[in-house]
Amino acid sequence: MGTRRDFIKNSALGGTLLGSTLSLSTSSARPQAQRVNKNAAANKPVVIATWKNERAVAAAWNVLSKGGSALDAVETGVKVPEGDPHDTSVGYGGRPDRDGMVTLDSCIMDHDSNCGAVAFLQHIKHPVSVARKVMTDTPHVMMVGDGALKFALDQGFKKEDLLTEESRAHWLKWLETAEYKPVINIENHDTIGMLTLDSSGKLSGACTTSGMAYKMNGRVGDSPIIGAGLFVDGDIGAATATGMGEAVIKVAGSHLVVELMRQGLDPNEACQAAVERVIAKEPKYKEIQVGFIALNIHGEYGGYCIQPGFNYALYENNGPGLIDAGHALK
Ligand code: ASP
Repeated sequence: MGTRRDFIKNSALGGTLLGSTLSLSTSSARPQAQRVNKNAAANKPVVIATWKNERAVAAAWNVLSKGGSALDAVETGVKVPEGDPHDTSVGYGGRPDRDGMVTLDSCIMDHDSNCGAVAFLQHIKHPVSVARKVMTDTPHVMMVGDGALKFALDQGFKKEDLLTEESRAHWLKWLETAEYKPVINIENHDTIGMLTLDSSGKLSGACTTSGMAYKMNGRVGDSPIIGAGLFVDGDIGAATATGMGEAVIKVAGSHLVVELMRQGLDPNEACQAAVERVIAKEPKYKEIQVGFIALNIHGEYGGYCIQPGFNYALYENNGPGLIDAGHALK
């Protein structure tokens, strides 16, 4: 592998994709936005989710296959890892920050651009459901910290201790060296970002995480930030991200993927071009993982990442699947 510049020059799609992404910022003419043809035959319903979240996509599929809405499906789906104490990067059982506190970030968005998010939320097992309440029951999009917790408790959510014995033991061991080192492809099931297309052709997405293990207290990543960890445009498609949140935020990653699909790229190409943008902006890209997945309104899906090892779970009429995403580093 040569320099970053070499990588971009030599990548299969680098030339054309960089050309098209460049036009986003340099063209002074009206954008040549190519909208997805909504009347084309669609593969629907369909659900995809980051990592090996097969139980989560099956739960979402259960809603979709009965004619349920994309929004209900996506909330139902991501609640599976949120409630699983053995999933150490989402919700209950998530790794704590360096002070031993489990702080959760989550967001949800529908086809009409309605969205809600919570960040730095403690003691609530299902932050995605609080995010949905922020969306539906407040004039706001995002609530954080103690304010978000108070809102959740007012809404009837239960206050719980989310630090499991196993996570606590792991944290105490970590304190012996206290070295902050993000782990690439952590246990093959990291943050869950999920995208759904229902049988009426409506899209939704959700993204939920306990964030990077042993982060500084108060740190918030990309996952709850609309446009970074998740973005949905009901006319075009949806995208979500996983991996080093700081690198995703720098390029407004999920919004970028959706805008690339608006320009005519298919979901795989759009994810690849967005990863190439991350690489171009992130000098330490070889030390981190960033992965995107995307779903357009035809029900076409794709994914791409920096490092090998990222996959995404799928459920569609043909049944379930697990797909290895393309990757920039070989
Ligand atoms: N994107 C998440 C964050 O930065 C973590 C991850 O997906 O690994 O908090």
